[in-house]
Amino acid sequence: MDERGKGKKRLIVVSNRLPVVISKDGEEWTIEPGSGGLVTALAPVMKRNRGLWIGWPGSGGEVPFDALFERFGRERGYGLRGVSITDDEVEKYYQGFSNETLWPLFHDLLGHCSFNRENWLTYRQVNRHFAEAVAAAATSEDLIWIHDYQLILTGEHLKEMGVHQPLAFFLHIPFPSLDLFRRLPWKQEIIRGMMSYDHIGFQTLRDRRNFVGCVTALLPEVEVISRQRQFTILRYGERTVRAGHFAISIDYAEFNEAARSREVAEAAWYLHENLEGKKLVLGIDRLDYTKGIPERFLGFERALEKYPDLRRRISLLQVVVPSRTLVPEYQILKETLDQTAGRINARFSEPGWVPILYVFRSLDRTQLLAHYRTSEIALITPLRDGMNLVAKEYCASAVDLNNVLILSEFAGAADRMGSDALLVNPYDVEGMADAVWRAFNMPAQERRGRMERLQADLRRNDVHHWVQRFLGTMFEEGLR
Ligand code: UDP
Repeated sequence: MDERGKGKKRLIVVSNRLPVVISKDGEEWTIEPGSGGLVTALAPVMKRNRGLWIGWPGSGGEVPFDALFERFGRERGYGLRGVSITDDEVEKYYQGFSNETLWPLFHDLLGHCSFNRENWLTYRQVNRHFAEAVAAAATSEDLIWIHDYQLILTGEHLKEMGVHQPLAFFLHIPFPSLDLFRRLPWKQEIIRGMMSYDHIGFQTLRDRRNFVGCVTALLPEVEVISRQRQFTILRYGERTVRAGHFAISIDYAEFNEAARSREVAEAAWYLHENLEGKKLVLGIDRLDYTKGIPERFLGFERALEKYPDLRRRISLLQVVVPSRTLVPEYQILKETLDQTAGRINARFSEPGWVPILYVFRSLDRTQLLAHYRTSEIALITPLRDGMNLVAKEYCASAVDLNNVLILSEFAGAADRMGSDALLVNPYDVEGMADAVWRAFNMPAQERRGRMERLQADLRRNDVHHWVQRFLGTMFEEGLR
């Protein structure tokens, strides 16, 4: 008998990477769910309907994937299936087309794009591998939800393979305006690929509007049937496609509770103790040129120049998590950061005070929360960002309500957080300097009021709410 119960549908989630951490402890292999918000939010839904997650498990010739996936299914209540990709495919599909073409283009950074036909062909081919894995696993009762820019063409391949159940897609990164999107040599193929989904989710209304603008300009046969608050409904031949926007979020309660723990409080206390009464301005980002880290350093430098009172009383603690270090663009960025931080520190440092404390590594969970909790100001200034979860995590961890968020107006998170964060344009060095000064001098009551409102919104609109809203509005039926 069907374990899922009669009439109930199974959810198949497809993403580039499987959301697991595989490691070896002595002779023993272990497999754990990853720590990202998406897996935390989806795990209960996946478990309830005995779902299946399909993705690339990462390379690792000697890893006994089958046995590990089998054990994971037994222990966690939902299944995993790996899609294997060769090293050459990883280089061209993932590092190449995904991260050197779509990533910069969709983040409005045309100057960072490379357009390479071989990478494009491999992207198509790997998307087909994913579709084959999904088609082999799916039954007509399943709901299929595909994630992000690495897998835009998977839906189209699935349709070609005769998979007819509704397909949903969520784009975690921004969608660019027509003017930018037109530069992509394969724009027609990508936009058609997106239109092969029945439901498409974006982070913000702006992304959804950009998409509708691109579709209607590039595919004249597409017709806008209606524009509602939740969706734009498009007709494409015989099919109807719904495009909506759903801002992803975090597990607010989990962050807030963990940030109150004694362990985090102690780690926070140690962090500040070494700073002798100075205020901390925090930046935490993956190494990525979309994050605006060099621009932030310049904004902070300008603040020290323009407001000498800040000297010795404030330090920027910038954590950069190593990422995509094989891509040359990222190596160049790393050098720029080293040089800029070095130059600013050489210019302003005094005995007992270093303006920029710059750390190039990831933090464990306790340290991450301690950094969030104890930093009076967060300076989060991406040039463009689909959402930016760090901004949300920072606010959720601000248990003393004594913190100020300075946020780029080009982060998706600014849509909901904009009225209580201090919004800045990361290209405006002067504006960033003024925001640091304003945050530094903000009265305690104002800090508290802003943070309370930010937290209230995050509490209501957490990642669990996001999953329910996406699945509820996209599929409207069937999931337990
Ligand atoms: N993060 C982490 N380790 C660190 C610093 C950050 O795991 O040392 C996490 C952070 O908690 C957040 C994620 O990395 O959930 C970054 O997400 P965001 O949306 O801000 O940016 P992305 O890196 O996805 O572009």
